[in-house]
Amino acid sequence: SITRQRLVLGNWKMHGNQADNATLLSALAQGVQAGGTEVGVCVPFPYLAQAQQALSGSTVSWGAQDVSAQEQGAFTGEVSGAMLTDFACRWVLVGHSERRSLHAETDAQVADKAKAALAAGLTPVVCVGETLAEREADDTLAVIARQLAPVLALGAPAVSRMVLAYEPVWAIGTGRTASPEQAQDVHAAIRQSLEQLGAGGVRVLYGGSVKAASAASLFAMPDIDGGLVGGASLVADEFLRIAAA
Ligand code: PEP
Repeated sequence: SITRQRLVLGNWKMHGNQADNATLLSALAQGVQAGGTEVGVCVPFPYLAQAQQALSGSTVSWGAQDVSAQEQGAFTGEVSGAMLTDFACRWVLVGHSERRSLHAETDAQVADKAKAALAAGLTPVVCVGETLAEREADDTLAVIARQLAPVLALGAPAVSRMVLAYEPVWAIGTGRTASPEQAQDVHAAIRQSLEQLGAGGVRVLYGGSVKAASAASLFAMPDIDGGLVGGASLVADEFLRIAAA
């Protein structure tokens, strides 16, 4: 869209070490120019300080991959939104399909996390997407609507401060990307719900095996505002070419 700024976010998942991160982060800091697509990386918690140090003063922003719905307290192993803003995070993924499937996060918990992220001053990137079985049963739009319902129920002022990501589960980490038309169909439905709510300006990213070769045709679709990139975000050159697409 001409009114929504293009955004490309990397999701490192559980990859990295201080030595490799240093190389990758400095390549991004040097390779991303101001004024174009907005670029950020969502790194594992232990590397937030490293990302902050390496990216401060660059145009690349950073964030985390999950956040607690709780503010603080006896929640061993959890990380609060305030802790993320303490490291100057801009973004936090919530409801990534790996959190939903491997950690049984519910739609309601995802909405609670999005709310906690906003309260801490972060931009939650709320991920939704159907499984292959759900797509084959023609349930895609119903699943997306169900996943989004408690998020949209937070209301237009809250939702307007979020980013959404459509990530079909069958396309994540599989090398099998949705076609631009398949993705656009879902993005158009999401856009319609956002407009009905009065939050039509929210950016909706596509995620699922985005590569430099597939990025341009996906990002050319009218309701796709950029990408959430897993595997390809670990390779500086590939990620930079996606951001330039
Ligand atoms: C993701 O983890 O959000 C993702 C889209 O992964 P990949 O690009 O590796 O499919």
